[in-house]
Amino acid sequence: MTNRAPLPAEIARRRTFAIIAHPDAGKTTLTEKFLLFGGAIQMAGQVRAKGEARRTRSDFMKLEQDRGISVSASAMSFDFKQFRFNLVDTPGHSDFSEDTYRTLTAVDTAVMVIDGAKGVESQTRKLFEVCRLRDLPIVTFCNKMDREARDTFEIIDEIQENLAIDVAPASWPIGQGRDFLGCYDLLHDRLELMDRADRNRVAESLKIEGLDDPKLAEHLPADLLAKLREEIEMARELLPAFDRARFLEGTMTPIWFGSAINSFGVKELMDGIGEYGPEPEPQKAAERMVMPEEKPVTGFVFKVQANMDPKHRDRVAFVRLASGHFERGMKLLHVRTKKPMAVSSPVLFLAADRELAEEAWAGDIIGIPNHGQLRIGDALTEGEVLHFTGIPSFAPELLQSVRSTDPMKAKHLEKALMQFAEEGAAKVFKPSIGSGFIVGVVGALQFDVLASRIEIEYGIPVRFEPSQFTSARWVQGPKDAVEKLVNANKQHISIDHDGDVVFLTRLQWDIDRVLRDYPEVKLSATKEMM
Ligand code: GDP
Repeated sequence: MTNRAPLPAEIARRRTFAIIAHPDAGKTTLTEKFLLFGGAIQMAGQVRAKGEARRTRSDFMKLEQDRGISVSASAMSFDFKQFRFNLVDTPGHSDFSEDTYRTLTAVDTAVMVIDGAKGVESQTRKLFEVCRLRDLPIVTFCNKMDREARDTFEIIDEIQENLAIDVAPASWPIGQGRDFLGCYDLLHDRLELMDRADRNRVAESLKIEGLDDPKLAEHLPADLLAKLREEIEMARELLPAFDRARFLEGTMTPIWFGSAINSFGVKELMDGIGEYGPEPEPQKAAERMVMPEEKPVTGFVFKVQANMDPKHRDRVAFVRLASGHFERGMKLLHVRTKKPMAVSSPVLFLAADRELAEEAWAGDIIGIPNHGQLRIGDALTEGEVLHFTGIPSFAPELLQSVRSTDPMKAKHLEKALMQFAEEGAAKVFKPSIGSGFIVGVVGALQFDVLASRIEIEYGIPVRFEPSQFTSARWVQGPKDAVEKLVNANKQHISIDHDGDVVFLTRLQWDIDRVLRDYPEVKLSATKEMM
């Protein structure tokens, strides 16, 4: 990648990223400050509704109905200095991790937010592992430094040990809790002082000529200054210096310390994302690598949201542009169906409002309203046949059978279930024996959300019931071996919404038995969507 020509300026200035965090670490607050400094909102507090709503189940359902909020927050674009930031939201609840995984296929960087008092938490670790699978560069923000936090070295050690990644301090906190004054910017030799009086104001930033600059003593009490000098000396000895190449390959993360609620450290973080990148990355397709600078437009669907507008029953497919310069009205090839598709009203998500996108570049996320043609994993191109890879579908961890409590509506239920399966909201399996459907999800809350959506959006009352099965595996292998397995195990076999064969299991033993008896067959817990 080192000897590629520079990207066209419009592409090079794009930064497409997601925020990963354990609930409560400050993702919503940080998002809000990003938007504030990006000029996308006038006042902090506007995305608050979302953060609060996520907390309880009933509020969550309401949120799902109120598609306006969750949609505009799915992907947000804003400018910061010379950069165009595309922030793609990851669903906060752990039950929606599959959605999160897919979201991470559409970004080039992740910002990992950790709480300075709590360090690396369970959800942080899980999300981090997904980033690692994709070698995604990670920028770390250690939040809530205005409260009692852990010792700075301890926090850094914990990240290094827990996540097995080198951590390079980009800033160093001065004091903590009530005595937190700000940070020393190690990359630019600047002193950043926090303004506690005005939470939306950006910190005062003073240019300092190294740690011996007498100006430091004018702003910091002697004890804190002595401690800062000592700690930074130690840090420079013990911790690796920031190395951009290692950051880009995903083996080193720069860490900024701050307090999102006080707007402190956020701008430095944004500067860091802008300055160190990465720029829109090449995307992998089964056929070849797709370079962002290629002239023809290509992109892939990583998320579908249905019924955002109850009056129109439309869906929006979120597309990550992999290459080219997209202009509104373009006719693109929908690779899966081989049909042309005129993209006449794509949307860009500018904070609170959806806006018609007149143009977009590689790296951007656009929303394409459609009536169900676009599915997760689908490719759009100017004619080339491409299948983007790496968009996973995971075996569900919970299975239930579903039926309509109104027998007259059983037919419609199939249609509704298929729509949700295409949207990626659930896995739907049609067993080869018997009637009805089995629905698979990753987290139990999804059953409730589905039941509520099926009722609200399709007017079908449904009941989920326990199923004898606990897990599902996609069956792969030579055709006759698969057929043999299918014929001898009908009670375990079902078909998913794409028509692929799925083996439903009760026990790990079922899987072991198949692997023993059908050595040519592979049972897979994931399937590529392409
Ligand atoms: P999320 O669940 O990760 O989206 O977290 P939120 O942004 O909703 O924040 C969780 C709680 O932490 C809220 O009560 C915030 O007001 C609070 N919070 C966020 N950032 C800071 C910070 O820098 N300092 C302090 N003291 N509290 C913060």
